[in-house]
Amino acid sequence: MSLSTDVDLVMIGAGAAGITAARTALAFGASCMVLEARDRVGGRVHTDASLGPHFDAGAAYIHFCERNPWVREARRVGIETRPWRGFMHFEPFIGGVRVPEEAVLRRRRVREGFWTHLESIEDQDLDQPIAEAALVLQDEGRDAITDMSRLGLGEDPQHVSLRDYMALWDGPDRIVPQGYGTLVRAAAAGLPIRLDCPVSQINRTAAGFEVLTAKGTIKARAVVLTVSVGVLKAGHIGLPSGLSADFTAGLDGLGMGALTKVALAFDGERFGIPQGADKIALDAPEGSMTFELWPFDQNLVLAVSGGQGGRRLIAQGEAASVDEVARIFSTIIGRDCRPHLRGGRLSGWWGDPYSEGSYAYAKPDQHHARAKLLETGIEGFYYAGEATAGGRFGACMTVAGASYAGWDAVKKALKALGHPLDRAASP
Ligand SMILES: Cc1cc2nc3c(=O)[nH]c(=O)nc-3n(C[C@H](O)[C@H](O)[C@H](O)COP(=O)(O)OP(=O)(O)OC[C@H]3O[C@@H](n4cnc5c(N)ncnc54)[C@H](O)[C@@H]3O)c2cc1C
Repeated sequence: MSLSTDVDLVMIGAGAAGITAARTALAFGASCMVLEARDRVGGRVHTDASLGPHFDAGAAYIHFCERNPWVREARRVGIETRPWRGFMHFEPFIGGVRVPEEAVLRRRRVREGFWTHLESIEDQDLDQPIAEAALVLQDEGRDAITDMSRLGLGEDPQHVSLRDYMALWDGPDRIVPQGYGTLVRAAAAGLPIRLDCPVSQINRTAAGFEVLTAKGTIKARAVVLTVSVGVLKAGHIGLPSGLSADFTAGLDGLGMGALTKVALAFDGERFGIPQGADKIALDAPEGSMTFELWPFDQNLVLAVSGGQGGRRLIAQGEAASVDEVARIFSTIIGRDCRPHLRGGRLSGWWGDPYSEGSYAYAKPDQHHARAKLLETGIEGFYYAGEATAGGRFGACMTVAGASYAGWDAVKKALKALGHPLDRAASP
């Protein structure tokens, strides 16, 4: 199939950034095409129903919902969202034994104390690793911060910039009973998207750009590239010549975390545990593992691990990781769950050639890296996605941030092309 079309804008990637970019371009009356390597839209937001009960393999929470455009989008497409009660209710276990309430409260107090400590050093021009900042804590406190880093940022705390972490937005989350992926897919309906169309090379031409894909070449006046930092660092796409030193430095300053989920589907046996009695195994190999039980009243348990723990699961493959997670869950519930297990899924974004990790964190001393990625040095060539959040850096690492980035990039592109920005359009 030939892709000989000429368009104003080509978006590479049909995740939240590419979808929002395309909607923005169309809202301003520009022509566009989205090229997507996978056979589906959504990228790192994907609702997986292959086990019967569904779960979000990637993003699940509509973070900081008061300023998240996906709340409004859910209303527009008629998809329900609900408040999420947060993560404080997860019951911690060590060696299959419930950690006493007193120790849980102590852990919580340490975490709060750590925040106070961070506020006290906020004015210092430090950009140390999170792990270094946590050295002021006792062992138990450091463990709590390590969990926060692995399960929140997908990476071990010695690799992550404290300043970048502190800049992230906070606020109440909402959840999507039908799945965040279902919502993002609905938002993409009717857009000009080519699936199964991996891009291999982007070249500059006299008139703009040519984008080489498995299905032919497309010409465009401007390009909005939305693949992950991991995909770029792995060299899966040949980039145009003339990129700025800033852009390359920005890529070097970011790494990809490995937040990893394993879903276990059961035959209806719930081991006497009510819905919402979520657990966390503090002694899972290479990092704590959370267990969300019977989400949306389905016969499913969703386990999450991050950093080295997540990479380890992925390295051992789906069958072994499902078995390991089922074993840890059995220890927590005090009986072997495996006779009731009907199937399992590993959602391993690390090593997936179209994501190469969960989301981009800034390395210590590299908190300017995200801003650098916005300076490609090539007019008409824009990079946008969760890693950049389009200048709203507190929204980085999220679906909302990716959308802001796609929106900002298209507005910049259209302005550079002399296209009138005469209508209202929001992400
Ligand atoms: C396990 C996990 C849990 C998460 N939890 C949350 C959460 O609860 N809330 C939240 O807000 N965020 C969460 N995130 C982060 C969120 O999913 C991302 O920030 C967001 O989806 C990124 O969107 P994007 O458009 O920038 O990138 P992507 O979604 O990665 O989109 C890029 C697209 O480019 C495509 N692509 C790659 N290579 C090529 C190529 N060569 N040619 C063409 N196309 C290509 C990819 O297939 C993909 O569709 C989570 C992520 C993971 C992995």
